[in-house]
Amino acid sequence: MGKDWTVGMRISGDEMTEYGYTSEDFSRMIPYLTAGGQLDYLSVSVGNYRSKDTIIAPMYYPGGSFVYLAAMAKEVLDIPVVCIGRINDPVMAEQVLENRQADIVGMTRANLCDPDLPNKAREGRVDEIRHCLGCNEGCWGHIEKAQAITCAINPTAGRELHWGDFRRSTSPRKLVVVGGGPAGCEAARVAALSGHSVTLFEAEPQLGGQTVIAALGPGRTDFAEVGRYFSVELARIGVDVRLGTRASAADVLSLSPDDVFVATGGRPLVPDHIEGVDGPNVVQAWDVLKGVASVGQDVVILDDEHHIQGLNVAELLASQGKQVEVCTRELEVGKHAEPITRTSTLRRVHTLGVRLSPTTWAKSITPGSITLYNFYSSMEHTRPVDTVVLCCNILPDNALFRELSKTSECPRHRRLHWPHRLEAATFDGHLAARALDAPQDLAVLVNIPGRRG
Ligand SMILES: Cc1cc2nc3c(=O)[nH]c(=O)nc-3n(C[C@H](O)[C@H](O)[C@H](O)COP(=O)(O)OP(=O)(O)OC[C@H]3O[C@@H](n4cnc5c(N)ncnc54)[C@H](O)[C@@H]3O)c2cc1C
Repeated sequence: MGKDWTVGMRISGDEMTEYGYTSEDFSRMIPYLTAGGQLDYLSVSVGNYRSKDTIIAPMYYPGGSFVYLAAMAKEVLDIPVVCIGRINDPVMAEQVLENRQADIVGMTRANLCDPDLPNKAREGRVDEIRHCLGCNEGCWGHIEKAQAITCAINPTAGRELHWGDFRRSTSPRKLVVVGGGPAGCEAARVAALSGHSVTLFEAEPQLGGQTVIAALGPGRTDFAEVGRYFSVELARIGVDVRLGTRASAADVLSLSPDDVFVATGGRPLVPDHIEGVDGPNVVQAWDVLKGVASVGQDVVILDDEHHIQGLNVAELLASQGKQVEVCTRELEVGKHAEPITRTSTLRRVHTLGVRLSPTTWAKSITPGSITLYNFYSSMEHTRPVDTVVLCCNILPDNALFRELSKTSECPRHRRLHWPHRLEAATFDGHLAARALDAPQDLAVLVNIPGRRG
């Protein structure tokens, strides 16, 4: 290729799997890799396709978890060394450079989540950065489903060409958003940036909605970034945020809005087909995470959510020394979770001795026992239990929307999506705000030619 080409090599510093090479093997390889003097840089990653949950490390891995591998190469090489590994913040990246652990910091998901990250870092606007959560839902999760990449908290990612920049409204409207979860916050952000005047009501003392609860689970604190980012951003762009205010239809109408977005999320569903489900020993997963439910030693989790919540609650309880069984009607537990996060989650719960019972569901619950049945054979067995934890679907909270719909003086109002997934929440909030001026544009925005997902 000639000397004027830059030639680098990307290599795993530890395959992190049985029979794979280790970091010690890697340290022995380094001199051979560079001996010919033909490499201009070495980029040190981690894992292989049997330890995928290190390659695109999910939220469980603290930022910079694998920098030590690059540092091993940096210590002995005099060519630039690149590091990777959940570095989602320029302050952390700067620290790596200062510590001389690497010369270049690779930040892929961080830039998908906030493509303005480098500019914000350069201009010292570090607080304004929307940090990648490491949830992997829109990026790797989409790849696994053969869909186009996006980001759970940056719906514009992968849609930039089709959506273009925000159009400044030619006839600014007065918008009220009820609900400061991800859907309401994203709608408020996009509407304010498009020039509309926005007031947002949130019943809780902080923004974030369900992500505030999600952040309470073991290894999931990064969910707190959702509320943090929107608090900073909505204040910066002048949204009138009214925290600790549960809005009624009268509160909304008193502001004489042109449009209302109802983004009130939902609450956990109680499956009424299970006898005894309203008993004293039955609690909700959200309450376990919040620490407000009393949970005994022997626990059965009924997981009809099929994502990470049930397994995460199982991990929390098992780490407190409780015996935990997770039952699901599906063929596998956590079936709808993004595969990399699921791999990590399963490793964590198996290590703690959590029992997983797929194709198993509850028929009835009494104060000391639960009757379970196989979903296919219908064979039943009754076992003792102290506490049953429900982790089922979400019942959308439509009370305010119905109240508004009944009022004759109600302006244009819209119920934002079914509040089941983060990515759907921000997507719907974003689109609703973009279509404020031209609701007929919605279909055009959703249907991107040639794009799957
Ligand atoms: C434990 C847990 C783990 C999760 N894990 C994941 C995950 O790994 N991946 C994923 O994609 N999703 C996950 N989710 C789901 C995700 O958080 C939700 O899909 C998302 O938060 C929904 O956003 P939303 O804005 O529609 O609703 P919500 O987040 O429910 O927000 C609605 C907000 O409206 C407020 N509100 C309601 N009524 C009023 C009123 N009248 N006035 C003012 N405010 C009101 C509520 O207080 C709430 O803050 C998880 C959720 C939980 C609880």
